Amino acid sequence: MATTGELSPGTRRVLVVNAGSSSLKYQLVDPDTGASDATGLVERIGLPAGRVRHTCASGTHTHETTVPDHVRAMELLRAAFAEHGPDLAEVELVAVGHRVVHGGADFSEPTVVTPAVLDAVRRLIPLAPLHNPGNLQGIEVARQVFPDVPQVAVFDTAFHQSMPPEASTYAVPRSWREQYRVRRYGFHGTSHAYVSRRVADLVGRPVEELATIVLHLGNGASATAVDGGRSVDTSMGLTPLEGLVMGTRPGDVDPGLPRHLAEVAGLAVEDYDRALSKESGLLGLTGSADMRDVGRRMEEGDPDARLAFDVVVHRLVHYVGAYAAVLGRLDVIAFTAGIGEHSPLVRAAVVERLAGFGLRLDEAANEAAHTEALISTPESSVAVWVVPTNEEYEIARQAAELVAPA
Ligand code: ADP
Repeated sequence: MATTGELSPGTRRVLVVNAGSSSLKYQLVDPDTGASDATGLVERIGLPAGRVRHTCASGTHTHETTVPDHVRAMELLRAAFAEHGPDLAEVELVAVGHRVVHGGADFSEPTVVTPAVLDAVRRLIPLAPLHNPGNLQGIEVARQVFPDVPQVAVFDTAFHQSMPPEASTYAVPRSWREQYRVRRYGFHGTSHAYVSRRVADLVGRPVEELATIVLHLGNGASATAVDGGRSVDTSMGLTPLEGLVMGTRPGDVDPGLPRHLAEVAGLAVEDYDRALSKESGLLGLTGSADMRDVGRRMEEGDPDARLAFDVVVHRLVHYVGAYAAVLGRLDVIAFTAGIGEHSPLVRAAVVERLAGFGLRLDEAANEAAHTEALISTPESSVAVWVVPTNEEYEIARQAAELVAPA
């Protein structure tokens, strides 16, 4: 049996699991340092031609196999560790940490999974029909396959539960709010929590003192205003459709749009929902959901790509301005996720639009930054940072802190 041979026995680890309806992503993480010993993916669960990919110190190991259900996926995960390492028997597995997308108003902290917690997550399915069912399956099978290890649910919405009522409340009828839990929840909370804390370390000031805006710009994108380490406003709402312009989602649109489209185009709710979830954003504006294509085409003079880029940047500037006002002051802007970490073009456009407020870009630092980096000059009124997100580390850290505080 191949093992990495690099783990010292008794070393604390958390197995971080992100289970979707047809895939199971995992990572073995040291919750104290964030170091990762292995990552993997079991994909095409319940579909023909499943696949397992496990990356560890000895390399990347891929094999095709049938994966009829999540139980089998979790067994394949365990088998991949046994075959390629690290040997899970040699580590002190303190928790399995599960990413759960929607915790509603019930969960503002990481939570040890019990039957009551599973019931609560199940009751939240109407709020996250695409995500919570897969997350639940992941937890249920991990309890079977790792019965002696505490299971901890870490919710994507939890960090935003600190939003004050004026930020989380939609001005809609009372019955919608009370019976149907219609309010703003926010998402990407694990990433916003990690980045806002990490950037405080980088700035060298206590997080309690800082007013920060985190821009998480991946395929999904959201902005969060963080005051003293607490989320006070965020751009996603009841669903991950609200807010910034994204790969395939438009972000904010006029709430009168469904009625208009029903009248002029006979659009049913499902068609409207599909168009807003999967056919809008960069894809709707350019035919590509990938910011790399949009940037390249813009530089070649493509007017659709130019417009799409400008729409993305305009909405970002709009939210930065709004959140600076919500915070009443601003110390730091942190860019993260695929576009935030890798697109100097987007970062430069945002910071340059804010020059009137004293922001100053360090162009060379911005061009070079793909990892943690300060990209504003010393004269800038606000420190602008690139901070790669690390949701797995944050889940591992929160899970370990809950069940096995150091
Ligand atoms: P997800 O939300 O799926 O986790 P990521 O955080 O990986 O997504 O971000 C994916 C996005 O990052 C894609 O839209 C892609 O265009 C963008 N991206 C990745 N690399 C670059 C780059 N070098 N320049 C511009 N955009 C990039």
